Amino acid sequence: ELHAGEMERRRLHNTIQELKGNIRVFCRVRPLVAGGLSKHIQLPVSDNKTITLAKTEESHTGKTSDTQKNYNFNFDRVFGPQASQHEVFEEISLLVQSALDGYNVCCFAYGQTGSGKTYTMEGSEYDDYRGVIPRAVKQIFRAAEKLAAQGWEFTFTASFVEIYNETLRDLLYTGKASKRPEHEIRKSTNNEVTITNLTYQKVSSEDQVLGLIMLANQNRSTAQTAQNDRSSRSHSVFQLDIEGVNIGRDVKCKSTLCLVDLAGSERMLKSQSQGERFKEMTAINGSLSNLGIVISALANKESYVPYRNSKLTYLLQGCLGGNSKTLMFVNIAPEPDSFGETLNSLRFASKVNDCVIGTASANRK
Ligand code: ADP
Ligand code: MG
Repeated sequence: ELHAGEMERRRLHNTIQELKGNIRVFCRVRPLVAGGLSKHIQLPVSDNKTITLAKTEESHTGKTSDTQKNYNFNFDRVFGPQASQHEVFEEISLLVQSALDGYNVCCFAYGQTGSGKTYTMEGSEYDDYRGVIPRAVKQIFRAAEKLAAQGWEFTFTASFVEIYNETLRDLLYTGKASKRPEHEIRKSTNNEVTITNLTYQKVSSEDQVLGLIMLANQNRSTAQTAQNDRSSRSHSVFQLDIEGVNIGRDVKCKSTLCLVDLAGSERMLKSQSQGERFKEMTAINGSLSNLGIVISALANKESYVPYRNSKLTYLLQGCLGGNSKTLMFVNIAPEPDSFGETLNSLRFASKVNDCVIGTASANRK
């Protein structure tokens, strides 16, 4: 049997989530490349939920003192530059656990290119630096092993897709490049979303999934060499479908854990307002803003949720909404020259957070 304390911890977690709604927003500040934090970002030590962005405007006369404008934001949790991968995962491990309890779980990393999205989601292969995906996979397989002692049998199926310019690409594809199939999103009568011609790989161990992640990275870097910096301009979606049965107790559960490294959220530069870049930026802006709209609609329990307005939300339709739990990381870069993008990212995330908590607690000036 599960340890009573553990059961209580999980029950409490689920109750708290239901009370607060099923959407969380966390902010994570990347360290400066040289280490430390730049002075325009302030993180109060007494509070791990607030972040302040300070803009100093130099006075024109050069005599009167500079004026400072503060932008404050509140999130469910703010991680400073010293926060380790372990610390970040600790905060979401119960969320990941609930995927085994039958809840759909979606976790996104949002932010400009270079802000730490991939570091947060994947990290590097060294144990201490592993990110959310490998840690989540490890936890799920460990927990499933424990549950097996109580008669639970689980089946896991992994898939990994890239969305680039509103086109899907199978990151687990191993065939000839010239034979790459095209994909379409289909919704079955029981509201399950599937992608045509996609690799759905049955997996039964952590190592097997880590192998698939490596394969996905290879697939991504092949596309990357053909198109410089493509990965920052595409969304990558890792999904683990979980099916559990307990024959003895005659119960079943089914859920999906979905971990998404979003395309860079940076705004278009004038120099990019033409050609291929323009098309890419338009696709990215459209799908990121639609993601915000969908999450807000879900949080506000609106009757119409515009899932179909972008491939990303259409693909995730099965695991967003309903009983699902959603977490968004907003990753920010600390360099002063990222001020504008950082402010944009925090505004986007706090808009999501605002609808969730239903108050104007964020962005107090
Ligand atoms: P993104 O995916 O948002 O473009 P990356 O995750 O690739 O950004 O991060 C950019 C660089 O910063 C990488 O070299 C990454 O290793 C490093 N980095 C990001 N976040 C952290 C962090 N929290 N601690 C240490 N290094 C980080
Ligand atoms: Mg990245």
